[in-house]
Formats: sequence, structure tokens, C-alpha cells
Amino acid sequence: MFIDTSTKASRAKFYSSSSWKQLRKLCLERDHYECQWCKEEGKVTTLSSIDKHGNPVVLEVDHIKELEDYPELALELFNLRTLCKDCHNKRHKRFNYRSSKKKKKWDDEWW
Ligand SMILES: [Zn+2]
Repeated sequence: MFIDTSTKASRAKFYSSSSWKQLRKLCLERDHYECQWCKEEGKVTTLSSIDKHGNPVVLEVDHIKELEDYPELALELFNLRTLCKDCHNKRHKRFNYRSSKKKKKWDDEWW
């Protein structure tokens, strides 16, 4: 099946498709509704968790190989993982780029 993911509009269309919604649910179930990145850090972040802003955690499903670059993997369960919104934002660097200070903090932590 050919899925066009080259434009923002086509990706939006993909994310609203029923095949995506079904697969998304499968991914969440496979990952036990738990953020996989938090899990690696030894943190448990599930739907009943509260984020650092005091809001209920939102779980999202991420394409490990990006949808835009690998449309053929768009509907492959092995290419999906559950991330909380925080981790998902980090992954796609959706924070504004001026927060690069924040990133530096990690390098500076040695001294
Ligand atoms: Zn997370």
C-alpha cells in the first residue's frame, strides 16, 4: 500500500486514517500504555501518571524511522513505540530552538 507522507497535509490525513488509529492502539497495548523512553530511564510513565506540569500524561505513538522518510514503514508495528508527550516533543525537538541552553546543561554537568 502506498502512503503519501511527503507533505504536512498528507501526514495529517494519514494520522486520521482508521488503519493508523487501529495500529496506534495495537502499539499502545503492546507497550502496556507505558512510555518506552521513560522506561529506559527506569521511570514508569503511564496514562495515570502526572507530568511535571501537573497534567495527566498524554501518550503518543512515535515512528522510530520517521514517517516522512520511511512511508513504507508507516504501518509497521515494529517501527512504532509509545512515548509520552514530553519524550515525543524531545524526540522531534518541538521545543523552540532557543532552549538549546537546556541541551548544553547536559554537557556542562561534568564540572
Ligand atoms: Zn516519556
